[in-house]
Amino acid sequence: MLKKKITKLLIGTNNKGKLKEIKNLLPNNLKIYSPQNFKIKSPKEDGRTFEENSLIKARYFSKKSKMLSLSDDSGLEVDILEKNPGIYSARWGGKKGDFNKAMNRVFKELDKKDKNWKKKKITARFVCALTVHDLNKKLISSIGKIEGSISPVMKGKNGFGYDPIFIPKGKKITFGEMKSSEKYKIDHRFKAFKIIKKLF
Ligand code: IMP
Repeated sequence: MLKKKITKLLIGTNNKGKLKEIKNLLPNNLKIYSPQNFKIKSPKEDGRTFEENSLIKARYFSKKSKMLSLSDDSGLEVDILEKNPGIYSARWGGKKGDFNKAMNRVFKELDKKDKNWKKKKITARFVCALTVHDLNKKLISSIGKIEGSISPVMKGKNGFGYDPIFIPKGKKITFGEMKSSEKYKIDHRFKAFKIIKKLF
């Protein structure tokens, strides 16, 4: 664990939605940088798990920026789709990162599996793996999950990614309908962050 106080941190993501949510979780007095400040592109994510990909990103961004870096790898697991899109969640949106395309792909894959899926509870979860890396050393990593189900229609304009089709367990509305101030206090990223928060 680091002995010196952390005063600055690079959040290793080029995804604006994630950057905003992670910033909200961090203390206000921390100076936050993003890969765009250093004109660093994202690395190839060729890990087999969320944990591996978050490590690949945190290590890469830390080496490139020579700064302490925090990276997240996250996605949606739909049980009857063999936990897909999983680590391919961003890739289901295509090169342009079109979230509508990604959500329609979920609907299409569910149609292929079960024509009656809209009448059933389609269990799913968001998973988030976080890693903090300092140059050549991994400092800490964690994983957070939130269970829920898939809405048969897209609802709400808040958030990003698959938020309009994810209904968290115990709620009647999608993440897309929820205020961001409500979502970020219960989601997978918040749960993963709770574990690493002692660093800051
Ligand atoms: P990656 O971690 O950058 O590979 O991308 C993760 C992808 O998972 C995002 O582009 C979203 O499509 C999806 N995702 C991760 N977290 C969330 C969330 O909180 N809400 C909605 N979609 C998410």
